[in-house]
Amino acid sequence: MKTYGRFPLALERGQGSRVWDTDGREYLDFVAGIATCTLGHGHPVMVEAVTQQIQKLHHVSNLYYIPEQGELAHWLTQHSCADKAFFCNSGAEANEAAIKLARKYAHVKRDIEFPIILTANASFHGRTLATVTATGQPKYQKNFNPLVPGFHYVPYNDFAALQAAVAELDGDRPQVAAILLEPLQGEGGVNPGDREYFQQVRQLCDDTGILLILDEVQVGVGRTGKLWGYENLGIEPDIFSSAKGLGGGIPIGAMLCKAHCDVFEPGDHASTFGGNPFVCGVALAVCQALMRERLLENVQARGEELRAGLAAIAQAYPQLFSGARGWGLINGLVLQPDASVKSIDIVKAAMEQGLLVVPAGPSVVRLVPPLVVTADEVQTALARLKQAIQDVVD
Ligand SMILES: *Cc1c(COP(=O)(O)O)cnc(C)c1O
Repeated sequence: MKTYGRFPLALERGQGSRVWDTDGREYLDFVAGIATCTLGHGHPVMVEAVTQQIQKLHHVSNLYYIPEQGELAHWLTQHSCADKAFFCNSGAEANEAAIKLARKYAHVKRDIEFPIILTANASFHGRTLATVTATGQPKYQKNFNPLVPGFHYVPYNDFAALQAAVAELDGDRPQVAAILLEPLQGEGGVNPGDREYFQQVRQLCDDTGILLILDEVQVGVGRTGKLWGYENLGIEPDIFSSAKGLGGGIPIGAMLCKAHCDVFEPGDHASTFGGNPFVCGVALAVCQALMRERLLENVQARGEELRAGLAAIAQAYPQLFSGARGWGLINGLVLQPDASVKSIDIVKAAMEQGLLVVPAGPSVVRLVPPLVVTADEVQTALARLKQAIQDVVD
């Protein structure tokens, strides 16, 4: 079905941060399957993990204990603020699980009959009916109503507005079950969360019993130079979701939470493929490699080089760009509101120059390379991007 507006490009091979199309042309891949290929393409750790696990055992039902799933859950809880994990297959599903958990928590722990979840304008949480409803962007919801009830929207990074919304909704009796936010809005334009805002949100949640859910699907697993996006904000969520980078490109999602939120009982939630030996074995190898190969340091250093280069490009074309922003290796080059071009025009021109980048809305060009990207590749990407912008201007 024509659900994707595709570029005229067919990729067939990859190595590290490079991919080749069916005509043998090479591209620097600063999309990485949209912030997904943590270790890049063809990484020996992934080749080995995939090969070993498929030979050993690839799928059994969750009716039986799955050692690889237990090991991955152990790794994730050892390396985050969470105590518990549920595994599924995608970001949307991880957020669905978080929404269900928060609703059940509201029912059984706080006696809320009609739980409401607050989300932010310009957010992105997925494409299932509940997560597209949680997504605070009408363009994704158009023609899909009736949407799922129980969601309200607030402006991002605006504590006064959030406080007012909670006060209004909780006026007669508590109704707000959870606040669901991205630490940095990815699809919404690479818009980093404000530290003070998130600390105020955390305090509000502590004071009221409202659960704080963070959507770490795009920024988790090292993308920001910290293992989790929330570490940039100096707070801990009650529940968070992970997916994209977690398996380095094999389909896996996870919903993690602190012990006090875990109200699920056998039969409450399930996924046939979720957490099978294959995906968990590979995801565990990816996570271990991330730490063993000290990739967080690489993300920080390469990220700074990339942002410096993007800021220089923005300065060289002040009529086009207002600046660059991001954390670690999730960065955006931001177009002026009245710029004569859109992000897609720059993305197409970059492709001509042998660089893959992706829009984050009409006014932001997003760069999310594999976390193994080298300093040379960052400089080459910047040179190709600059040439592409010059082509667009000419
Ligand atoms: C990509 C994304 C999702 C959806 O993940 P899928 O695996 O496509 O379902 C949810 N939240 C955020 C922040 C994302 O970037």
